[in-house]
Amino acid sequence: MKISYISTTIIFLRSISVTSAFTTTFQDYRRTSSSSVLYESTHEICVLGGGFGGLNTALTLSSLPFPEEKKPTITLVDNKERFVFLPLLYELCVGDASLDEVAPTFESLLDGTGIKFEQASVAGIDADQQNIYLENKEKLKYDSLVVATGASVNLEFIKGAEKYALPFYTLDDCLELKKRLTFLDALIATSTSKEELNVVIVGGGYSGVELALNMKERLGSYENLNVTIVHRGNEILEYATDFNRNTGVRRLEDNGVKTLTGVSVVEVLELESESQNDFSELKGRCKIVVENGSSKEQDILNADLLLWTAGSMSTNVQKGILNSKLPRDASGRLVTDSYLKVKDYDNIFALGDCARVKKVPFGATAAVAMQQAPCAAWNVYSQVMLNDEDIKEGEKENLQPIPFSYLNLGEMMTLGGDDATISSMGVVEVNGIAASVLRRIIYAVRMPTLQQGLTAAISSSSKRFESVLSSSSKKSGGKSKKIITWK
Ligand SMILES: Cc1cc2nc3c(=O)[nH]c(=O)nc-3n(C[C@H](O)[C@H](O)[C@H](O)COP(=O)(O)OP(=O)(O)OC[C@H]3O[C@@H](n4cnc5c(N)ncnc54)[C@H](O)[C@@H]3O)c2cc1C
Repeated sequence: MKISYISTTIIFLRSISVTSAFTTTFQDYRRTSSSSVLYESTHEICVLGGGFGGLNTALTLSSLPFPEEKKPTITLVDNKERFVFLPLLYELCVGDASLDEVAPTFESLLDGTGIKFEQASVAGIDADQQNIYLENKEKLKYDSLVVATGASVNLEFIKGAEKYALPFYTLDDCLELKKRLTFLDALIATSTSKEELNVVIVGGGYSGVELALNMKERLGSYENLNVTIVHRGNEILEYATDFNRNTGVRRLEDNGVKTLTGVSVVEVLELESESQNDFSELKGRCKIVVENGSSKEQDILNADLLLWTAGSMSTNVQKGILNSKLPRDASGRLVTDSYLKVKDYDNIFALGDCARVKKVPFGATAAVAMQQAPCAAWNVYSQVMLNDEDIKEGEKENLQPIPFSYLNLGEMMTLGGDDATISSMGVVEVNGIAASVLRRIIYAVRMPTLQQGLTAAISSSSKRFESVLSSSSKKSGGKSKKIITWK
């Protein structure tokens, strides 16, 4: 009963989740388009990167009404086998979500869509010859190109960080952390001396706070656990809404997570041999030299586990998608116009974390990338169709490109276990278990396909509903007593 209710909700919410500008343009065109146009050759569309931006662009493109005789070939290139729903990595790490829910294979997602999938690492783009260079594979030819290769954490700038820190940004990072936590469970079980276990997290943005609270929840049964966030900014969660920041900071305090603000990591070093204890076999144990931004005083923190969430960069620079010709900003993001078209290149579009659409960039969020995807898809479609000489003048009006505009629908954070906080458009503010349930439902709606949305909903719902039901009969303990506020 509960599951079928959720499934119906997912289908309903998915059906209204497309941006209105896109829907209007798309429907207008469907009404007037002619299917009698004859085409001579197949147009090749390549989408690089199968994350929130790229995958949704490819899926939207495959559903647009290209005339049957000249359906383009759509190829999605990603170096991984699986799409990763990054906001649920925390749950995967602590065993609160399954691999297939968080990271379905591209093969399963693209089944029946007609989109070709190429698992390969993009090494370079030759924009003059319209070729994509792939590592250890034949180059790909394109007529239209969409770049959505995202961002990654860069540890090169801090001495020792690459050797000792574990970034938390990819599925591989998450699975490695999961492995270390399982190993840690075994060490804890046999620990006799009950020494301090120090987890240090660098970065006090959304990811750092979410990870800290999930580590607290996951390892909380160990009495001598210290979780510390080191944050360069002056305030934890400085870009969050007031409601989410206040809830997040309160939860950190309630759970005894220590926060060091205005403090930077200067260097990461090996731990001396006298620091040997029950946790000595853990990989990556280290000491961290931190510096206070204003006083310049330095201090040392010992870490049994050093997790890194700060400082992501566009993969264009870091992973070497080389093409000196494509215009980029200082952070390596491809510079586009408001139609997501790369400056000076009519047939190249970019979106998501690897793109910069305007002077003050949009936040590097899944929400932005997902809203950009239908816009990028439509604009590729528009360009292909408008360049076709068989399109009649009267049809062109409905095929015009659309500029991207972002609608901020709000933000959500996991606070560990069955706790979360949601703040949306200044109207809805929710925290506690209700927010945790709602967050998983909203994420199920945002899954790239309906089938994946249902898998996610079913996988997460039963457990959460049980939690809600059991918690309603108990006092809420350390968690917020305020469940929902409508402003
Ligand atoms: C742990 C974590 C939690 C997050 N939580 C939230 C949240 O709660 N809400 C929110 O809105 N945002 C969240 N974000 C941010 C959000 O996930 C990103 O902004 C979003 O994924 C950007 O989408 P994208 O398509 O630009 O890039 P991505 O989703 O990162 O996709 C890029 C794709 O390109 C592929 N790729 C990269 N380089 C190459 C190459 N050389 N060759 C081939 N393929 C390549 C990658 O494998 C990847 O599949 C979170 C991020 C992380 C890491």
